[in-house]
Amino acid sequence: MTVTAPPVWTTMPALMYHSVSSVDGPLRDLAVPPARLAEQLAALTAAGYRLVGLSEALDLPDQGSTDKLVAVTFDDGYRDFLTAAVPALAAAGARATLYASVGHLGGQAGWLGPDAGAFGPMLTWDELAEVAAAGVEIGNHSLIHHPLDVLPPAQLREEIVRSHDELEQRLQVEARSFAYPHGYNGHRVRDEVRAAGHDNATEVGRRLHSPQERRFAVPRLQPTPDHTGADLVALAEGGGSPLVPKLKQLAQPGWRVVRKAARRAGRNLT
Ligand SMILES: [Zn+2]
Repeated sequence: MTVTAPPVWTTMPALMYHSVSSVDGPLRDLAVPPARLAEQLAALTAAGYRLVGLSEALDLPDQGSTDKLVAVTFDDGYRDFLTAAVPALAAAGARATLYASVGHLGGQAGWLGPDAGAFGPMLTWDELAEVAAAGVEIGNHSLIHHPLDVLPPAQLREEIVRSHDELEQRLQVEARSFAYPHGYNGHRVRDEVRAAGHDNATEVGRRLHSPQERRFAVPRLQPTPDHTGADLVALAEGGGSPLVPKLKQLAQPGWRVVRKAARRAGRNLT
């Protein structure tokens, strides 16, 4: 008698969204319009993927699940997450992780410098509580959204510990997951993130995650407004490299602008 083993997925795509809106100019690729997001989520679901937050996506295989998973994540905490992403996720039967930049809640994305208002206001604490109540995992994206690898030890700890503890105390949730601002991490940063009580973390990466890899540097793929539903399924299946080189190139400029703005803002840090 032949016993067919259930499939064991060797890779897990994780998606990195930012704003759910339409934006012109250099940050365009970091904003996916609501209708496009709905199309992308629906296409992934139709392709047999189960869409969940990052901690859940890391837990499920350990709990014996053989589902084909995609981790869906959104960075920063723009208000449009509540108004546009939450309804789109609900319509698709999807869950997600939202990484809040805690020091900017109720304000603007100050680290973008002159473009701070490009994606509209950040969520307030009350709105973030609504997001959590909607079943979205709340992750930590530090206090001020500065690249962490260049900070002195005391400030590094403050950025990671205070944001983690504030999220847990004010929202009464477990803040398990951390997203490195601009993706930068190293063993010193990862050790602090673990010590603060997180049990996983994510970077930029632009490739698929393999389960045997580090749980504190899960790479993510970036959907853009140019990815149709079919494009995004191809990205999730192949990590993007052979199939959508043009789209990957298009995705770069927006990211470079964000990093440049962070460096500018960093010079003004005291
Ligand atoms: Zn960010």
